[in-house]
Amino acid sequence: MTQQKTFYFDNNATTRIAPEVVDAILPFLSNYWGNPSSVYRFGNQLIQHLEDARSKVAALINADPRELIFTSCGTESNNSAIHSALMTTPGKCHVLTTAVEHSSNINFCESLEKRGYEVTFLPVESDGELDLHLLEKSIRPDTAIVSVMWANNETGVIFPMEEIAAICRSKGVLCHTDAVQTPGKLKIDVESLGVDFLSLSAHKLHAPKGIGLLYIRRRTKYLPYIIGGGQERGQRGGTENVANIIGFGRAAELALSKLEDENTRVRTLRDRLENSILDAIPHTVRNGAKEPRLPNTSNIAFDAVEAEAILMLLDQVGICASSGSACTTGSLDPSHVLTAMGLNAERASGSVRFSLGIYNTSEDVDYLLKKLPPIIAKLRAVSPSSETQSANSHRKPVATRDQR
Ligand SMILES: *Cc1c(COP(=O)(O)O)cnc(C)c1O
Repeated sequence: MTQQKTFYFDNNATTRIAPEVVDAILPFLSNYWGNPSSVYRFGNQLIQHLEDARSKVAALINADPRELIFTSCGTESNNSAIHSALMTTPGKCHVLTTAVEHSSNINFCESLEKRGYEVTFLPVESDGELDLHLLEKSIRPDTAIVSVMWANNETGVIFPMEEIAAICRSKGVLCHTDAVQTPGKLKIDVESLGVDFLSLSAHKLHAPKGIGLLYIRRRTKYLPYIIGGGQERGQRGGTENVANIIGFGRAAELALSKLEDENTRVRTLRDRLENSILDAIPHTVRNGAKEPRLPNTSNIAFDAVEAEAILMLLDQVGICASSGSACTTGSLDPSHVLTAMGLNAERASGSVRFSLGIYNTSEDVDYLLKKLPPIIAKLRAVSPSSETQSANSHRKPVATRDQR
């Protein structure tokens, strides 16, 4: 594996594991590797550590620890919430979601359609925002659940979840939010938010991959998606991922403590990066509303260039960024999010997402701002006419998903 200096601007895809998190995890890989369900202390002493971690993650979202179940990832949490809503409301077979959700929601909903359920994918406006009036009108008597992401991973656009949850409550329909992009960036308080279900994923907040969370409001009916032993109070089978749960707990503490501080510093870096690109490079526009938006995300369209070419040249100088979401990179279709916002295929395929994080420095931004303008100028100099470009859009992707 190569290990050159990396200028990492892809924090919405995954984040560096915090050194504090690595320290917290290591003893649970090397020494305390028992099974928490065992009768002897070497195993069941781990229960206390798991519950400590659960309390820390609960504190991050202001929930009761008993309202949390650990899952394997954000994807599983999203699938599980919608699955449970359909299973616990027999006769209701409609799901209301949006056209800009993460693939873990969109593709799951499409699979539901194949199994006879009905799904409405709400459109968004050109700035990526939702029409709440339309959302309200789209709730039907047979709607089992409304599932709307809190913050968009591609554009950073934030939906008014509190209002959406209030609409759902007034209509007596369950409400789920994919909040995977929010920890460390927004204050999360499930009490004031008022949703029934909320998904998180640890690897988006400086903990390892392979551990997620589903918050289930107390007294909300829940039917498990993964059925096995009685782990997670019978709500999610499978031996607990002890080390990663410990890491998630530590990361939750860090996210909470750095929220204020890093929100302002990272936002300033993001704004400087975005404004400088828009000023220095002609024919560029920001995709999505300026506000309300995650403080770390900037999605920019570069006219007459292919994002894949930009990313390849950035990669050569050690800069990591992405087009669309990492989960769909490698596919030939332009981003479903940008397409839903009405961007034409050419503009959507010339769009790059820069997502910053707590480890980015001002020097990182300086480096990017030095390298990017000549790359765009070089690509535009050799850029074929727009006709040829669309004809080329069937090219092979420059890198497969696994290489990223
Ligand atoms: C990354 C991401 C997910 C998926 O989380 P995994 O843990 O990778 O399955 C879901 N939703 C959003 C908005 C994300 O950014």
